[in-house]
Amino acid sequence: MKALEVLLGYGCNEKCLFCSQDLAWRRAPGMPFALVARELFKAAKDGYRAVCFTGGEPTSRRDLPEMLALARRLGFEYRRVQTNGLKLGEPGAVEALEAAGATHFRVSLHGHTPELHDELVKVPGAFAKAVAGLERIRARGLGVGVNVVLNKANAAFLTETCEAFLERGVSDFVLIYPLFEGDMVHHEAAMTLTVQDAAAAIRRAVAAFDRRGAPRPRLLNLTPCAAPELIDRMLAWSAHSLLVLDAESKPVDLYMASHDDRLRTGPCEACALKDECLGFKRSWLERFPAGGGLSPVAERPAAPRAGARILRRGGGAFESGRHELARAVQPVAGQAADPAGLRVERLVVTLDAETGRVHEGREEWLEPLGEATHA
Ligand code: SF4
Repeated sequence: MKALEVLLGYGCNEKCLFCSQDLAWRRAPGMPFALVARELFKAAKDGYRAVCFTGGEPTSRRDLPEMLALARRLGFEYRRVQTNGLKLGEPGAVEALEAAGATHFRVSLHGHTPELHDELVKVPGAFAKAVAGLERIRARGLGVGVNVVLNKANAAFLTETCEAFLERGVSDFVLIYPLFEGDMVHHEAAMTLTVQDAAAAIRRAVAAFDRRGAPRPRLLNLTPCAAPELIDRMLAWSAHSLLVLDAESKPVDLYMASHDDRLRTGPCEACALKDECLGFKRSWLERFPAGGGLSPVAERPAAPRAGARILRRGGGAFESGRHELARAVQPVAGQAADPAGLRVERLVVTLDAETGRVHEGREEWLEPLGEATHA
């Protein structure tokens, strides 16, 4: 399954304390509809059948329904909206997006109570609206997953948070360790959580998933040394470690790992995974020098559990066939306000499972804004 991720811009209606995007980016223009349409046409022609609209907050775009409708007309079978859920609580919002073409949603929920979630996203009433939206999605029989960003305020309640949404019928979770970037840097005192504390919270939560027989959550922004026994659930720790298909061959989330801000240092030298792991984020190493007390992985963990197939360079399981992931039309941070137009980039990663070879292509160009529309 080829998947296209479209980052529509950085505009958002919440102010999460752990946001890894800079609030100043919100002033940049969103991706013009004309450009989104062009990328959708191109991807459809290239055989892409899954698309995810992300941001910022995609539901703040008035033209999101038109994008979904176009994606459906072009033959994308899987059409997902990544959202904080705030707009989904409005009457008819889920139904309108479904009618336009949405098949899946991924909702960010960071606590099990209104007090916890609302305080983290800095919008009173946000929890009630997101949960109402999530329940509408479930009632409509659409696909839904939940993202939780871990931090100092919510880690102690991670199990309760996951259980609250397991109870509501969600089975697809991604637990995310925060990035020390963007607006997060202004709230570090209240938000910073060590990797060890994050791993402890995740282990408690995973035990709750296991007790229920639910699929374990996937984990983002963690290195295997944080919890080696959970390596098969970790996303983006190695070059192109992408979960592409679940046990029923349904498409699931795809992530690309970025190479240029990762560093192998400290425990990495003695680590069994040093040839395939990308290492630690530089921004994290600035806070936790030399690996923050983590120990190297002594032995490569056993093969991934059945039900989750991982594409991984340098060993591990490869699906047969060829896979592509494109992240298209992404405004380049800090440059999007260029009066001459909008700088955009496209990164295409191709994995050939026959040979195990990985090819990356990157393009960047200046898009004249012209008459293009954006919210
Ligand atoms: S290579 Fe480094 S960052 Fe990666 S798992 Fe090993 S010790 Fe951790």
